[in-house]
Parts: sequence; structure tokens; C-alpha cells
Amino acid sequence: MNRGRIIVLSGPSGVGKTTLCKSIINKRPDIRYSISATSRKRRKDEIDGREYIFLTEEEFKRWIEEDRFVEYASVHGNLYGTPRSELEGRLEKGVNVLMDIDVQGAKKMMSLYPDGIYIFIIPPDISELQRRLLKRKTEQDEVIKNRLANALKELEYKKDFQYVVENRDLDKTKKELIEIIEKELGPVQTDRRDD
Ligand code: 5GP
Repeated sequence: MNRGRIIVLSGPSGVGKTTLCKSIINKRPDIRYSISATSRKRRKDEIDGREYIFLTEEEFKRWIEEDRFVEYASVHGNLYGTPRSELEGRLEKGVNVLMDIDVQGAKKMMSLYPDGIYIFIIPPDISELQRRLLKRKTEQDEVIKNRLANALKELEYKKDFQYVVENRDLDKTKKELIEIIEKELGPVQTDRRDD
């Protein structure tokens, strides 16, 4: 069996990447989600080991020293990284791996995994992004301002991506992503699982 491939979803936060990732995973049993580690505080609806592996900053730095990340970056003042354990064994078994990472991480992955599928999700416009971030009601105003400023900066990276998908209508975007994946990977291959 061929090695699995990585599928990277990147783009400003609040653009709907989490929802889109869940929808991909539900439709494609031959793709597994890579759970990142982060030093940011857990939100109240999040579970350690499900959305993220939550580490203290000190623990995160120890993981860096122990070379346990394929890539890591500081995003909005917190550390985020992809643990090697989420990736390498699975790809060897032929399982494809989906990642939701920021543009710095995506660029690193492009150099390490040139055969990956790189998709940039853009918001229809910045006021829509602001509305979505405010609707999320999990962060303070300052944090939202900071995230919006970063979003504007991140939009400049879209030229590096193989695919750019505008998330105007969630159902349409989900379909579009499944079409891209089908074009790249072919139909679901049920023998590509790691459970
Ligand atoms: P949030 O705190 O809203 O869950 O995520 C903030 C940002 O961190 C998102 O844009 C997400 O793509 C990014 N992110 C999550 N995990 C990783 C990771 O492992 N590496 C990198 N570089 N960015 C990540």
C-alpha cells in the first residue's frame, strides 16, 4: 500500500476550519484527524485529548526539547504543535492525516511533505469573520482584535496554497472540500484505517 498523505486546512481563525474538519472526518474513514498540542487554556466545551492535548507552557517546551513535534508555532501568543505520534506511524500504514494548523505550520509542512494537499480557507470578508468570532463568545475583546489583525496578515499567505476555498456557505464549502479530496485521493479506501 502507498504511504498516506496529509491534508492541511489553514487560514484565519474563526473561518470555520474546526467544523469543516469534523465534516471531512465523518465522510472519510480513510482520513484521521491529527490532534495538536497547545499551551493555550482549555475552553469549557473542550476535552483534553479530543480537541487538543493541553500542556502547560513548560511541558510544551519540554516536548520541543525532546523533539516530539513535526512542527510548532506561536499563534495568538500561545504555542501549538503537531506531535510526531499523530503523523508518522499512520502515514506509513497508508492512513491519510488531516491537520488544522496555522500558516507558519502549513509552510513548514509544505517543505517536509511536498505531496500533501494544502487548502487555504478564506472568509467571505473581514466583517463576516468579526461576526463569527464575536458569536463564538469565548474570548475577550482584546483577544478578538488581535485575532482579526492576525487574520488580515494571514490572508497574504494564500498564494502559497494549492487550493483556496471561500467559506461563504458552509454546506457548499463542505462539498467543495470533499470534491478536492476525492480528486486527490480517489474514493474512500476502507482498508486505510488505523483502528
Ligand atoms: P484555536 O486556539 O482557535 O483552537 O486555534 C488557533 C489557531 O491555531 C488556528 O488557526 C489553528 O489552525 C492553529 N493551530 C492549531 N493546531 C496547530 C498546530 O499543531 N500547529 C500550528 N502551527 N498551528 C495550529
